[in-house]
Amino acid sequence: VVTPFRNGVRGVGVGQHRRSLRTALLRLISALPEGRGLDEEMWRSRHRVVVGILCAHVPALALFGILRGFGVGHSILETAAVGAFAVVAAQPRGGRRLRSVVASTGLMACSALLVHMWSGAIEAHFHFFVMVALLSVYQDWVPFLIALGFVVVHHGLVGALQPTAVYDHADAVQNPWIWALIHGGFVLGAAAANTYGWLASEQDHRRVADVMRRSENTFRALFEDNPQAMWVVDVDTDAVLAVNQTAITAYGYSEEEFLAMRVGDLYPEGSIAEADAVAPARLHRTRSGRVIKVTEHAQRLAFNGRDAWVVVAIDMTERIALEEELRHQAFHDALTGLGNRALFRDRLEHALARQHRARASLAVLSIDLDDFKAVNDAHGHVTGDELLVEIGKRLLAVSRPDDTVARMGGDEFAILLEGVDATDARAVAQRIMTAVRQPLVIDDVDAAVSASVGIAVAHGQVDATTLLQRADIAMYEAKGAGKGRADVFRSGMQSRLLQRSEMAAELRVAVERGELVLEYQPIIDLNADAVEGVEALVRWQNPKRGLIVPTDFIPLAEETGMIVDIGLWVLTEALRQVREWDDTIAMERHPGISVNVSPRQLREPDFVASVLRVLEEARVHPTRLTLEVTEGAMVEDMGQARGCLAQLREAGVRIAIDDFGTGYSSIGYLRSLPLDEIKIDRMFVPGLTQAEGRDLVLALVRLVDTLGVPTVVEGIETATELDYVRALGVDMGQGYHFSRPVSADEVGRLLSGTGLPGAAAQPNVVG
Ligand code: C2E
Ligand code: MG
Ligand code: MG
Repeated sequence: VVTPFRNGVRGVGVGQHRRSLRTALLRLISALPEGRGLDEEMWRSRHRVVVGILCAHVPALALFGILRGFGVGHSILETAAVGAFAVVAAQPRGGRRLRSVVASTGLMACSALLVHMWSGAIEAHFHFFVMVALLSVYQDWVPFLIALGFVVVHHGLVGALQPTAVYDHADAVQNPWIWALIHGGFVLGAAAANTYGWLASEQDHRRVADVMRRSENTFRALFEDNPQAMWVVDVDTDAVLAVNQTAITAYGYSEEEFLAMRVGDLYPEGSIAEADAVAPARLHRTRSGRVIKVTEHAQRLAFNGRDAWVVVAIDMTERIALEEELRHQAFHDALTGLGNRALFRDRLEHALARQHRARASLAVLSIDLDDFKAVNDAHGHVTGDELLVEIGKRLLAVSRPDDTVARMGGDEFAILLEGVDATDARAVAQRIMTAVRQPLVIDDVDAAVSASVGIAVAHGQVDATTLLQRADIAMYEAKGAGKGRADVFRSGMQSRLLQRSEMAAELRVAVERGELVLEYQPIIDLNADAVEGVEALVRWQNPKRGLIVPTDFIPLAEETGMIVDIGLWVLTEALRQVREWDDTIAMERHPGISVNVSPRQLREPDFVASVLRVLEEARVHPTRLTLEVTEGAMVEDMGQARGCLAQLREAGVRIAIDDFGTGYSSIGYLRSLPLDEIKIDRMFVPGLTQAEGRDLVLALVRLVDTLGVPTVVEGIETATELDYVRALGVDMGQGYHFSRPVSADEVGRLLSGTGLPGAAAQPNVVG
């Protein structure tokens, strides 16, 4: 068949042109957009539909031809051509494009056949448009191109050869090529419309795909790159469907292992219950067997078409450990590692509730180190801390594992004993005191401390506060009764404590109300039988309680610090009295004045200055004043006291050690002190009448002699005692035998010279 088109080409010339036309056509075809929306399967199913329609045309057209009077043989022969296209198109060989071109040509052939059988009726031409529309299922330009070419060539060619087979109106019959182009134009339009249709829908698809991809990326970022371990679990089977890298790293399972697991495999046996009360956490076991604490957050979603949980597992192991550490710190003492007051109270409250239900009894021991402050002052806080740590260890060692040992603050400890009575508690207290007393080394020096223990036993209903208070009261009682001992709380203690605090309140105003008075006790020069001096001794004339002796209120004054004011008052009053005696009595020997000083006063920074000022105001020469400091105070407060006393001594004031023999100072230590006088304690005096007691005093006196300071023996009550004292060669004496402490007026009479009571007794029995 020679087409006019081909003719035209041939008119131009050579095979060269034909080849270039083919390549140009191929290039054009490949440049045209190709539907990418179809994957192989989609294309195949669509192609199947097209081939099916093609096949359906075969009998339909044959029948139509017969009905139109073409004769059976003619009709079947013509439609067989369409069947041939269908058979070729159905072949699985050849590319998509080739097969779609064959099918498209077949469809066009169907339309051409229908037009031909309908004698070019205009209505038959509509079939072309239906077929062109059908071609759009390929989402490709080429079938449209084929349809366009087919229509133009067929209409033009057949129109020219046999016009009535294509057209049924005169103008078309006259100008078949023009009408072929017109029809071609419509087909082009339909093709363009359909192409636009599939391109537009493809764009929509791309947009949807884009959104999907983006959400996939988001999911990937949230899931795969999440710094927390995550997995996806099938809601029905608990199987792990996906797992992220963090989980793989954290749990040690490979992705394959994870995907073969059920999520329950992560839980250690029987640990589904909450692992921790603070932060509800679950236990997970890693591949290595390490158990970690996690909180899980799960979100339900569809995953690859399955109902699934997306689970985030946040490792809380470190956080929980940190919280536990903080909780521990809140309830424990940092220095000793023991429980603190808060923990003790908490345990006590719980124990009291239990004890009440079980009708059992429990005991609280309040333990306070004796004279801990002295250790701290003398050796420094570091040593003090070491001592506390050591004591804490000892307390733990003597208690049972279920007893609560706590440091309540400072040098105060407490122990809670459950299921014990007062007798048991006493036994424990005894063990505690023994343990505390064990020697220890402080600053390379062997030392010993003691503890006072207060015991409160809970019987009946009693609250924690009251019980703790009772233990403390008993402890104060033990301290007051001489330290290093244990006392069980009795109701009388509470009122005594109350009395004490009332007394403290009264004492606070005693100085300004002028309730304090001084008595004076002469100190006798045993060689000259004359009053060497007098010791000022304070008394408290309490309006309610009557006369109170210093041993009953000086300790209280020392504890409360009131001793500073009281001491200053005593000094001022005593020196004022000396001034008065000097001014009013004619004396041969002006007596010295001895004033007792508490260690607490020596710690006052302006103590030296105030003593000197008072001396000056009273116009009494410093050499006439003797300050008495107890031996115990000297031992406790070495450093500061020594410096202070040295300054006073430089100014001429005399320093005496009081109550000598009751402390434990070594001779070497005494030698280092600034001393002018030693007063041997009165407790040695009664012993003078027995041989061993005499030896003891003799040893003491010899010892003092080596220091080369004058000695006073206190507490001489009888003439016999005086004889023994004289026989020992002691310089001075003091005691009821000469005179009790008396008022200033009586001392005045004594000084004005009528002799000394008891001094007349002559030595007679010295051994
Ligand atoms: P001290 O300094 O050793 O005073 C001697 C104590 O022995 C006085 O007791 C005195 O009355 C008593 N005494 C004297 N001769 C005899 C005797 O022959 N037999 C007996 N059994 N006792 C005798 P007092 O006045 O009760 O004072 C007790 C302690 O109170 C004093 O002991 C002193 O340590 C302290 N004290 C008294 N006044 C003051 C003061 O103004 N300041 C300070 N810080 N302490 C004072
Ligand atoms: Mg004294
Ligand atoms: Mg004394």
